[in-house]
Amino acid sequence: MASRKPLIAGNWKMYKTVPEAIEAAKHLVDLTRQDTGVEVMIAPAFPALYSVGQILSGSHVRLGAQNMFWEAEGAFTGEVSPGMLISTGCSHVIIGHSERRQYFDDTDNKINHKISAALKNGLIPTLCVGETNEERERNKTFSVLDKQMEKGLIGHSAEALHTLVLAYEPVWAIGTGKTATNGQAQEVHAYLRGWIEKKFGIELAKSIRILYGGSVKPDNIQGLMAMPDIDGALVGGASLDPETFVRIVHF
Ligand code: PEP
Repeated sequence: MASRKPLIAGNWKMYKTVPEAIEAAKHLVDLTRQDTGVEVMIAPAFPALYSVGQILSGSHVRLGAQNMFWEAEGAFTGEVSPGMLISTGCSHVIIGHSERRQYFDDTDNKINHKISAALKNGLIPTLCVGETNEERERNKTFSVLDKQMEKGLIGHSAEALHTLVLAYEPVWAIGTGKTATNGQAQEVHAYLRGWIEKKFGIELAKSIRILYGGSVKPDNIQGLMAMPDIDGALVGGASLDPETFVRIVHF
């Protein structure tokens, strides 16, 4: 367990113009000069990736994208390929965020293709899974997660998935200020780790990092990180201000 390096990732969503992203990235680099043993990643919107990548180069902060298409190139207007992301300096990519699933028809099948393409190209994918409020109330949490995990990961081997990061993001906790309790989050993280063990074996289950996402803030990160199966956080709103985000990084 001790070998899992914590990862604190910031999802900037559709916030910040390019100049604003540059300013925030510079500030974050200044605030993270000391290596605390925590992996830090930020995912700005596509237009800012290259400039932010230049700023992060040589720093302790890694660059991620919020989405991508699986094809290498072609007539796919509006889409961005894995190679394009790598050329901006990205090492990470978020796949299957609930906002992509909800508003942009990111189905489990498309998500599966995106995971494959990320892995083939050497990008570290963070696969987001999580149930809605209605699904939780109908006691469907684990069956929803089973389906998202199964369909998102089918066809991959444990070896291929060795860099995969999972993010448990209950949809009812995203941007709502409602965080899952430490116990609720731990229960699901333990379930997901058990699921990985059943399908891919103990080695991957022990090494895979499972992040919690959903209204993470400086004042709740410590309790979450104290849970044995929580290896970090995917942070939306609280990642936009570098001073706030760094308080989460320095949990
Ligand atoms: C997210 O966008 O992944 C997220 C968890 O958002 P927030 O932290 O704002 O709930």
